[in-house]
Amino acid sequence: MLDEKLCAYKKKERLKRFTPTKYKEEFPFLREVDSLALCNVQLQIEKAFKDHFRNRKQFKHPKFKKKREKQSYTTNNVHNSIRVDFEKGLLYLPKLREGVKIELHRRFDGKIKSVTVSRTNDGKYYASILVETENLRNKVVEPKSKACGIDLGLEHFVTVTNDFGSYKVEHPKYLLKAEERLRRLQRSLSRKQKDSKNSEKARLRLARQHAYITNARNDFLHKLSKAIIDENQVVVVEDINVKGLLKTRLAKSISDSGWSKFLTYLKYKAEWYGRTFIQVDRFFPSSKLCHRCGHKNEDLAPHDRTWYCPRCGENHDRDVNASINLYFVGLGRPEVTPVEQSLVDDRSPNGLPKKPSCNETGSLTTKC
Ligand SMILES: [Zn+2]
Repeated sequence: MLDEKLCAYKKKERLKRFTPTKYKEEFPFLREVDSLALCNVQLQIEKAFKDHFRNRKQFKHPKFKKKREKQSYTTNNVHNSIRVDFEKGLLYLPKLREGVKIELHRRFDGKIKSVTVSRTNDGKYYASILVETENLRNKVVEPKSKACGIDLGLEHFVTVTNDFGSYKVEHPKYLLKAEERLRRLQRSLSRKQKDSKNSEKARLRLARQHAYITNARNDFLHKLSKAIIDENQVVVVEDINVKGLLKTRLAKSISDSGWSKFLTYLKYKAEWYGRTFIQVDRFFPSSKLCHRCGHKNEDLAPHDRTWYCPRCGENHDRDVNASINLYFVGLGRPEVTPVEQSLVDDRSPNGLPKKPSCNETGSLTTKC
């Protein structure tokens, strides 16, 4: 179907509309699949082309998938053709007489709309079930803390300050170990002869390790962001300008640490649970300001982990101090009011004046 569409597309012919039925004569195996699965493919192709014609920049024209990539099909529930037997742990799919044994992640109520069966490139099968249900969200807990400030670090994953004090969250050890194993598997694959049996085995091992790391990291990020959202009413993070930083030398560790994913999770969970998510302007000097007296340390170098405030003599841990400043932003009342400097750094890195601004924190003004 895609081939015919692409041929017409390349010849600049008008794309005609056709149904998957016409292929069944030539490709009898298509009869083995339920017709709704084929229909969904047709709909997906049509949507992909429609998106492409609507916005060619954002949506490239559809392409063929590689055999080794993730493969999937979606089918809809008609007259109870898709069922889950929670007791026996079986999933019933159209065209299959017997249920498929599944490892169920959780029970659900509601009407099953569709199911997507996918095979990942590490050879595992997943079924994702779309359900129509009344109670959409998990229970909302009363926050214990009014606000929290989160400093994203390289040494520690994050440093958090809220009403109860500050704490650091380390990169999980199992992730660091898993990444070490990943590098070993990568080296092992590169030593294998291309297209040999051993190289295929090594590729599979590598794909499995990649999948393990992705799952483990997502699990860690989901649990951490959920815990933070549960505990605090206002969550403040710095705008680290992930995309800008990714181009620099720090790239590897940042893309690995999953900051941008973490911020995305915090943002949508805040929306779900009625919390406020604030991302301060990236020119807000959260690390350079002394949280005690408001002095701004212009000499603070990126590698300085601790520093003494020349004005009040406080010994600062860089990350803890930054998270405290962000916490103050969350409280909406910076107790530390700078005497000489504006709370907002008014210069951009190239020395040109920049409009002072602080996203969503309009109340942040300098009092003298
Ligand atoms: Zn100070």
